[in-house]
Amino acid sequence: MNADYDIAVVGGGLAGASLACALSDTGLRIALIEAVAFDAPADENLQARTTALAWGTRAMFDELGLWSAMADEAAAIERLHVSQAGHFGRVTVAAAEYDLPALGYVVPNVAMISVLRDRLADLDDVDVIAPATFQGLAYDETGAAELTVVEGNTERRLSTRLLIGADGTHSAVRSALGIGARLDDYGQSAIVTKARSERPHAGCAYERFTPSGPVALLPFQHDTCAVVWTVPSAEAKRLLDLDDTHFTAELQQAFGGRLGSLELAGPRGAYPLVRLLCDTAVGRRAALIGNAGHALHPAAAQGFNLAIRDALGLAETLREHQALAGVDFDPGEPDMLAAWAEGRRPDQHRVANFTDRVVRLFSNRIPGLGHARGAGLFGLSLAPGLRSDMARRSMGLALLSDATHRRAEGWSKT
Ligand SMILES: Cc1cc2nc3c(=O)[nH]c(=O)nc-3n(C[C@H](O)[C@H](O)[C@H](O)COP(=O)(O)OP(=O)(O)OC[C@H]3O[C@@H](n4cnc5c(N)ncnc54)[C@H](O)[C@@H]3O)c2cc1C
Repeated sequence: MNADYDIAVVGGGLAGASLACALSDTGLRIALIEAVAFDAPADENLQARTTALAWGTRAMFDELGLWSAMADEAAAIERLHVSQAGHFGRVTVAAAEYDLPALGYVVPNVAMISVLRDRLADLDDVDVIAPATFQGLAYDETGAAELTVVEGNTERRLSTRLLIGADGTHSAVRSALGIGARLDDYGQSAIVTKARSERPHAGCAYERFTPSGPVALLPFQHDTCAVVWTVPSAEAKRLLDLDDTHFTAELQQAFGGRLGSLELAGPRGAYPLVRLLCDTAVGRRAALIGNAGHALHPAAAQGFNLAIRDALGLAETLREHQALAGVDFDPGEPDMLAAWAEGRRPDQHRVANFTDRVVRLFSNRIPGLGHARGAGLFGLSLAPGLRSDMARRSMGLALLSDATHRRAEGWSKT
């Protein structure tokens, strides 16, 4: 099969860019097609965004040789403190209990994106095509996927042996492949910003569940926290329209006084929240990764942690099959893609269901349930097995590949 590329990745967000980096040096010809110019300035929404990376995700970035470039911007989460507004009971988890230096890290999205894109710019085997928008899919007479891509006013076609949809929740690739997805609107939005706190966070990530949604204050810089505050979408609009003083007063009320008084320390952005799960992650000569295949509520901070496992798992599958097949290797081989998708499904479903349960349990306003939830949290803090399960899920450790897990264990002793 003659095609322009062996693999074309549509979407140069965190998932697509990570996959393209992971596929470099395979000898495969790779295209990365991204709608937004790589040098476009970050808008306020993006500037306000941070991502909590599980320990396992740090390990994966390290395997890609990218962690050291992000490390200066990363704040370690040494402890996790989960509580519920107005109720007795909390869960605390400390990295030291697991003999790890950190449960995870909070990294600004702009820093991650820029490290990934700098790497991509250095790779000779990855052609970055941006700004360019994927608009359509057909198959040529040899069976290769033929993409219609629009760059400015110019429409071009490029063919590939494997198409990766990494183009986010409203994926055009998923639609073009005819893959269905279940999309549930939570009716909530996440407001993201930064807040300086009177008392230092001391490496603790706080998540407080309130009747209208969770508010998380995560370690950022020494006296500053990254804020992810989930509220009903109509409420988000009202809060964004407030001036800084009134906004901060409402944030303080939702979070409480655990860190003393708060002061706004960055722009505000808001993201509507949906849950999406695709019917299948593979199509004809195609696979979906990241939000194109599953989008999660940020309450459990698992979306990207799951996406990078999709991406690196797929890269590993492709490398293994390439090593076995040699020159006959076909990156679009259906059985190989189906096996990858099948292997990923339990992790995706487990994390999606876990996240969904957390959101629904702590968001509903049924009278009396608050006490039950408080008791549940309190019980969790007393039950080492359950608490450990929560910690392992949030760290991503339980889900790591053996090899990476061994590396992580090695690092824990350094
Ligand atoms: C408020 C908030 C907080 C979060 N916090 C965390 C956290 O702490 N930890 C965590 O693990 N996860 C978190 N997540 C989830 C995480 O951000 C996502 O899972 C992750 O960003 C998904 O990355 P992606 O690359 O799959 O999709 P996206 O980031 O949506 O990237 C898709 C890319 O595709 C491009 N694109 C779209 N359409 C086209 C097209 N037709 N042609 C070409 N390019 C196209 C877009 O421009 C974009 O660059 C959070 C999410 C939110 C909303």
